[in-house]
Amino acid sequence: MDTHSAPTSEKSDFVRDIVAADLRDGRASGVVTRFPPEPNGYLHIGHAKSICLNFGIAAEFSGRCHLRFDDTNPVKEEQEYIDAIEADVRWLGFNWGEHLYYASDYFEQLYAWAVDLIGQGKAYVDDLSADEIREYRGTLTEPGRESPWRGRTIEENLNLFARMRAGEFPDGARVVRAKIDMASGNINFRDPVIYRILHVAHPRTGDAWCIYPSYDFAHGQSDAIEGITHSICTLEFQDHRPLYDWFIENLPVPSKPHQYEFARLNLTHTVLSKRVLLRLVKDGYVRGWDDPRMPTLTGIQRRGFPAEGIRDFAAMIGVARGDSVVEIEMLEHAVRGVLNRTALRRFAVLNPLKVVIENYPAGQVEEMDVMNNPEDPSAGTRKVPFSRELWIEREDFMEDAPKKFFRLAPGREVRLRSAYFVTCTDVVKDADGDVIELRCTYDPATRGGAAPDDRRPKGTLHWLSAGHAVPAEVRLYDHLFASPFPGSEGRDLFDDLNPESETVLEGCLVEPVLADATVGETVQFERLGYFCVDPESTAGAPVFNRTLTLKDSWAKAQAQTTP
Ligand code: ATP
Ligand code: MG
Repeated sequence: MDTHSAPTSEKSDFVRDIVAADLRDGRASGVVTRFPPEPNGYLHIGHAKSICLNFGIAAEFSGRCHLRFDDTNPVKEEQEYIDAIEADVRWLGFNWGEHLYYASDYFEQLYAWAVDLIGQGKAYVDDLSADEIREYRGTLTEPGRESPWRGRTIEENLNLFARMRAGEFPDGARVVRAKIDMASGNINFRDPVIYRILHVAHPRTGDAWCIYPSYDFAHGQSDAIEGITHSICTLEFQDHRPLYDWFIENLPVPSKPHQYEFARLNLTHTVLSKRVLLRLVKDGYVRGWDDPRMPTLTGIQRRGFPAEGIRDFAAMIGVARGDSVVEIEMLEHAVRGVLNRTALRRFAVLNPLKVVIENYPAGQVEEMDVMNNPEDPSAGTRKVPFSRELWIEREDFMEDAPKKFFRLAPGREVRLRSAYFVTCTDVVKDADGDVIELRCTYDPATRGGAAPDDRRPKGTLHWLSAGHAVPAEVRLYDHLFASPFPGSEGRDLFDDLNPESETVLEGCLVEPVLADATVGETVQFERLGYFCVDPESTAGAPVFNRTLTLKDSWAKAQAQTTP
């Protein structure tokens, strides 16, 4: 093999190093990977790590990556999940081309290989119940015991297996097990179950089958059928690898794939278990699989995290063999990096306080030019209407303000971004003594937000014209789980849910261009954070989800620990 032409990747980690070495030394002539989700739930940020790794390696080494549904357990699998998984992988920016596969496409072949194994005397039909099988299996410290049915003749096994397929027996009556070693130190070797009876219709094969292969019997052989060169999975499958290899060695498979394991992603304040995520949805703790607080890719998307930010995050965390927990702030940092570059700046007032500019002509409206993104001058400017009556953020005013309060207070001057300098001259209160309106004057010589005499107020506020602002609902989001390690130290996971993970604000106001913003678009509300247009928005009544605040605590912590 010409070593100079072997593709290499600019990225480096132990998996990529193995792939590069296999290509260089001729152990592989090309790279074929796969992402193999079980369609029993929605994909989450942990799956994104695996997707970026598998599709990333295929792209970097001029190979291909298959999307294969590992659909061997019809009890929990649904078409809804299949459709959602495809949409999510596409959203993340990856493409399997024509290489969409299903383990269920191989049921006939897998059955034939089970017959083959029985024929070699390396598998048998067992009549023990599930409980008995568990009991006979032994433990990590005790060897297992052989099933009394282990000595059946090949003929009897073949006959019973055929009758299992024909539907003669009820669920759980019999299984097929590989005949390996009940005393093995690796429990996966203690005659693992390879076929079980399940009279359940399958989303794709319908009623064609009432026996289904186990994960272990389906996975490696599916890899072999598809010519997968590097079967990359998470560490919990490490102890399954000898079994993976055993099937590949003992069956007439068309290729010999190898399995490699990497550490799964764990994130603080986050649970990445489909079982828990399903319960959050089914028990109504969240708005659905796509709730903006969910770690699902559909939730993350609704929250306003761009796919590019997820890919950047995957690159930042890299791939290793050791288990670790990544701080969610790092994900947020990656997302901010993209949004800071790309999100258009807009004005929004979440908690409005009326301002009347007493020396501004009633009925006059000026269209102020405001930068769309100071990080990207090519994003241009937009017009924001300015008039005599405005809204500002209630938190931007204080009656008895300390010296360091660089916002509005009686007698103080501030800049209204890209408009004018204004000075507060009077405060209007209701019967309870609460401030309901501010009276101000403006300096006409400061149009655009700069003074001819170079006077520079310390504070710059965002604002909206009262006659033009559009009402909006804004949903503020925080971590779904208050604890960084949900369910640790014996606590119930659900007790760790953050009761303040969602705050719905009504009566917010946004600038006119946002009246019919596109669902899914993420903008920066100046000084407030990033916000994404929710699918529940209607014409003229937008709903925004807070994607993130502007404060990057991860970058700050990094800066403090780096001398
Ligand atoms: P379950 O909890 O039901 O076992 P799963 O999350 O492992 O589900 P699969 O559909 O089997 O779901 O996962 C598809 C692929 O994604 C597997 O190769 C798996 O190793 C990988 N994967 C799942 N969770 C993570 C994670 N947290 N980090 C990295 N990869 C993951
Ligand atoms: Mg799994």
